[in-house]
This record gives sequence, structure tokens and C-alpha cells, in this order.
Amino acid sequence: MGFSRPHLRCLSPEEADYVIREVHEGVCGNHSGARSLAHKLTRAGYYWPSLLHDATQYVKACDKCQRFANIPRVPLEEITPITSPWPFAQWGLDIMGPFPVGTKQAKFLVVAIDYFTKWVEAEPLATISEKNVKGFVWKAVICRFGIPRVLISDNGKQFDNGPFRELCSQLNIKNHYSSPRHPQANGQVESFQVCCGHTEPPSEPRPMKLPSSSPSAQKAVIPVEIGLTTLRTTFHKEEENEGQLRLNLDLLDETRERAARRIALYQGKMARYYNTKVKLRRFEIGDWVLRKVTQATKDPSQGKLGPNWEGPYKIIQYYRRGTYHLEDRHGKRLPHPWNAEHLKKYYP
Ligand SMILES: [Zn+2]
Repeated sequence: MGFSRPHLRCLSPEEADYVIREVHEGVCGNHSGARSLAHKLTRAGYYWPSLLHDATQYVKACDKCQRFANIPRVPLEEITPITSPWPFAQWGLDIMGPFPVGTKQAKFLVVAIDYFTKWVEAEPLATISEKNVKGFVWKAVICRFGIPRVLISDNGKQFDNGPFRELCSQLNIKNHYSSPRHPQANGQVESFQVCCGHTEPPSEPRPMKLPSSSPSAQKAVIPVEIGLTTLRTTFHKEEENEGQLRLNLDLLDETRERAARRIALYQGKMARYYNTKVKLRRFEIGDWVLRKVTQATKDPSQGKLGPNWEGPYKIIQYYRRGTYHLEDRHGKRLPHPWNAEHLKKYYP
């Protein structure tokens, strides 16, 4: 199941090899970069679990691409900005009701639907006031999903009033008002109504299927990106944005797997690092060490700003590596053995 198109054909390694070569450098190939190559492959209707990785490796190892790679500081062509697409860029807004009165006298619903994911946010309201509606858009949409590019609503005064327009203009959100005579212009909220059993189902029902990614998996647009525009907000193009978001979803499993591998690798590294640290803390008889200052050994007159290590002490005996007997500078043996983790080597 794909997001760029309903079904993608899963290829075997040999088939994948062939299409990747053909798309990258065949008759119609243009030696494009890895992400563009991945995009072309999914648009052509293909999929395999390591598509992005293989595309990256292929481009990296392509002889021509390497020979023709840009020489640093000499731009051969215009830079094409590569940015992450803008998720939750376009929301439809609507008021529904009145319904039978519910808790807290609520009988209306204010609803927002993201055009791309079909994600729905809704809040029951007792009254439809400018303040309530503005608060909903702020809390349920902007604070949770980032600043959208466009809000689409009908001409109702709930969404077309001073305070609401001011909020939008402060955040550079465009308001599109669909004509009340053509309510289908805001088709997103309509399809939600279908799911609520609020209107007659259309001939072709639109299921409210959500992608398996959580909303936070995609980077939301935050206010600083609006004030100080980023490439992403400046170069936003509706169609391309959608294509890029779909490609992200097509490649989601692969990205997840890579993240899991990285975590495993990182944990392995941490374990090795920890082990070397432990090994380094081995002392020999005659070594000088400092002892960690603990609550028990702290000099109360020093307060919080006292040293963290005190000593030095000399290692005089150990039973097994890890537990050491110490004596102080005057040759006086300390009563208890000390664990290596409380000691560190001292260079006299
Ligand atoms: Zn190439």
C-alpha cells in the first residue's frame, strides 16, 4: 500500500537493481540526486524496503555522478532548495450543529481537518463566539500542529471577524473563504460530516484513514519560521508539498528501521564506551588516587562549593579488581575498602 498511489509494486533485489539503473542513467535517466531518484521510483509505481538507502548508495557510487560532481565553490547551476515539506499546511474549518445538548451545555462542534492527512480536531462548544473559535484554532491547531499556511472556511462570521483575521495575519496565515453558495469548495469538512452521519453519504465514500505516523513525527512550522522565513515557507508549492509528504510516507518504514538500527548502534557504542571507562579505572598497588567526596566524607565548612575529590591516597591492597584498600599520606590505613567507581587516578 502506497501513499503516492494506492498500490506500489514490491520489487525483488534483481528487479530493483534494474529499475534503479534505468531511472538513474537509462534513456530517460538524468543522474538526479538520491531523494529525487527515490521520488521517481515511487512515482513510477515501485517500492522495496530499502529503496531510499539503495538510491543513496547508487548515486554515491555512480561513476558519472562522481566525475561530474560540483567542484566546491563553483556553482554550475541554480541551487534547488531541498527542504522538508510543510505538514499540516492547510486546514478546513467549520461549525457543525446544533446537536442535542451535551455536557456543559455544548451543542455545537467546531471542527478542523487537515487536507493532507485528513486528521480531525474538534471541540464541543455551548456558544459560537469569536473568542471560542479563535481559542480553538490556537489551541487545537496551531499549538499542536504548527502554523498552517492556509485556513479554509466558509464566510461565517465566526471565521471572518477582526480578532480571527488579526491572529491569522500575525502568523501570516492566509484565509480562504469558500462561497456559501458553493459549500463543496471546503470539501474536507464535508467528508467529516459524512462520517458523523450528518449528511447523505456521497457515491464514493472517503474513508478517514490516518497514516500510521503520529502528527509529531513531522516537523511543525513554528512562529520563527514565519517571522524569519525559512526555505520551506518561502518555497512552498502546493502540489510539490503534497508529493514530498507522500514520498515521506512511502519511505516511512525504511526511515523507522534506520532509526531503530541507529539506536541499537548507539546503545552498543555506549556500552563499549562504558566498558572501556570501567577498564580504565583499574589501579595497581602503589598508585595514588583521589576519593570522591560524598555526603559522608564532605567537609561541612566547605558547603556546596567544596572540591569533588579528596586525597591523595595510596593503593595498598585489593582482593579483586574493583575494591581497593587505601592508606593516607601519613601511611595510615583507611578502615574500609573502596570501590573503583569512587576513585580516580592522581598524578603526584
Ligand atoms: Zn549518476
